[in-house]
Amino acid sequence: MTTAPALPEPLKDLKIQYTKIFINNEWHDSASGKKFPVLNPATGEKICDVSEGDKADVDKAVKAARKAFELGSCWRTMDASERGRLLNKLADLIERDRLLLATMESLNGGKLFPTSYLMDLGGCINTLRYCAGWSDKIQGRTIPMDGNYFTFTRHEPVGVCGQIIPWNFPLVMFVWKIAPALCCGNTVVVKPAEQTPLTALHMGSLIKEAGFPPGVVNIVPGYGPTAGAAISSHMDIDKVAFTGSTEVGKMIKEAAGKSNLKRVTLELGGKSPNIIFADADLDSAVEFAHIGLFYHQGQCCIAGSRIFVEEPIYDEFVRRSVERAKKNVLGNPLAPGVNQGPQIDKEQYDRILALIESGKKEGAKLECGGGPWGDKGYFIQPTVFSNVTDEMRIAKEEVSRFRTFCMLDYILCFNCHARCAF
Ligand code: ADP
Repeated sequence: MTTAPALPEPLKDLKIQYTKIFINNEWHDSASGKKFPVLNPATGEKICDVSEGDKADVDKAVKAARKAFELGSCWRTMDASERGRLLNKLADLIERDRLLLATMESLNGGKLFPTSYLMDLGGCINTLRYCAGWSDKIQGRTIPMDGNYFTFTRHEPVGVCGQIIPWNFPLVMFVWKIAPALCCGNTVVVKPAEQTPLTALHMGSLIKEAGFPPGVVNIVPGYGPTAGAAISSHMDIDKVAFTGSTEVGKMIKEAAGKSNLKRVTLELGGKSPNIIFADADLDSAVEFAHIGLFYHQGQCCIAGSRIFVEEPIYDEFVRRSVERAKKNVLGNPLAPGVNQGPQIDKEQYDRILALIESGKKEGAKLECGGGPWGDKGYFIQPTVFSNVTDEMRIAKEEVSRFRTFCMLDYILCFNCHARCAF
């Protein structure tokens, strides 16, 4: 087992260097000349402006990716072990810039600094090294046949991959998308979420520094209905991979079908239940249920957002859960001792508050929290509901824009026996 690195202090003098579109290993203004503001969710203040890519920029990025993919280009015909070496080199550069990237991730995404530094950056480095190892181990098969035949399979890269990612794990998602695609010899056009483009753009500079050939990775920041839709409907993209809301996932699939029937991978939301039985170790059940839900302010597709508790321990479980939730220390995610940061933006914040109201109106019992916190940024008090029934919106909907989200979704129900059968 490797030991986690010691946690340093976040960078004090973080400079945002990369704010343009990354195509062919060069930085470009958007074709329209437009930019959009990127905010710090802990304050609501602007960090910087970023070039706003749309269809014209996606077209340019796809051309670059296609050229880099063509037979005879150095990427496609490169030794597979060399692709692995480049991915490992990228992991080395992330290790070098780990503090900078973790600070930037927390500033832009509202993620607690220890989580960014230890979990997210650690995960990125490991994923890249894992995929680097696969580069020269992707094998086909030989298949015994009757008669005088030689039958075999081989795996070929798909081609140009469009990759649309969300804001809850900006760097992790970036790496999860590019690393498997690149190790197999594909080229990519990535669109980071409009809320959190900064670490993805810094990755552009590392990709160039690592020595990836031009056009292999292209990064187009911009909005979903413009830049994102241009990717999903593009006639020269062979595959689109998307992580985000179920609502948008449906649009992506439709656009892929209506354009060139490109392959589609969707990673959508969830509304995951935890089931706690009466013989559970209550301290541990409360703690893990709490972590399972409040991790990154609930903004996680696997958040345990419904909790079914067996009747004999229900009241005690609620009491201890409320006690635990109230211990959360809210504040700047870069500050030591803070264990609950802001929601990502005003849209999610408003949506969560509206859902809290719906929970109250529909008859759930608000045990704690239920409102905004602080006088700036997008903070919401840790919120726990009990007496929730299946028909209520808070039991059915992913709290933050159809994704899993948020602590308010802490749902504790009677009648566990019946439900445990599922
Ligand atoms: P969330 O609820 O996490 O904001 P979204 O599904 O809205 O989830 O966003 C996830 C990603 O999908 C973001 O990069 C966003 O810009 C993009 N996106 C949003 N709308 C569309 C769309 N119509 N077509 C393609 N991408 C989109």
